[in-house]
Amino acid sequence: MATAGLPLETQENKKLHSFAQHPTMSKHVPNEDAAALLPAWVNPDLDRLMMVRTAGGTFRSWAESLVDLPAGALFARITGVTSVSTPSYSTTQAGRNLHLELNSNIHFVNHSCAPTLEWDMEHVEMRVNRQRDLKKGDMLSFFYPSTEWILAQPFDCWCGAGEGKCFGRVEGAGRMDPTRLKGYWLNGYIKEMLEEEAQVEAGTK
Ligand SMILES: [Zn+2]
Repeated sequence: MATAGLPLETQENKKLHSFAQHPTMSKHVPNEDAAALLPAWVNPDLDRLMMVRTAGGTFRSWAESLVDLPAGALFARITGVTSVSTPSYSTTQAGRNLHLELNSNIHFVNHSCAPTLEWDMEHVEMRVNRQRDLKKGDMLSFFYPSTEWILAQPFDCWCGAGEGKCFGRVEGAGRMDPTRLKGYWLNGYIKEMLEEEAQVEAGTK
């Protein structure tokens, strides 16, 4: 330790509140033009990753990808969220007892039974579906039961995934066919709750 032996009062031991406050960072001048050369998730910059389209009406908006990414790649980290006590149509579950307001355009990423993204709420990031590449112009979607145990507002699904693929009714993992759910990437807490429910059912038979 470089400062060992110095009297306490001469040490630079004040608390820094941001990285930029550190003395070695004083020469740091951001170059906004060069920033565009970095992958969008570095800054992060959702406007470079996705665009929101709307046909008017509360539930008639969707998000499209502005980038090509390979299957399983990181799409973006989920930032700027706030935790709320009551789940609603606009919240996303991120743990057994954790529900988040997203506070950004990722709110417009809709459900699909054949989703283009995986929302990993335990790592707080969105990844490209590990089974297929993401192409520019693809609609961005994730499988709501992969995050939600019980949906605050269940809905009839019009995702267009096709017969035998679309569930028809989306209510949250706790109320949907567990055998079919196994074909999807699911968050750890959802998997745990499904296993617990299966054990309870096995015990009551
Ligand atoms: Zn569907």
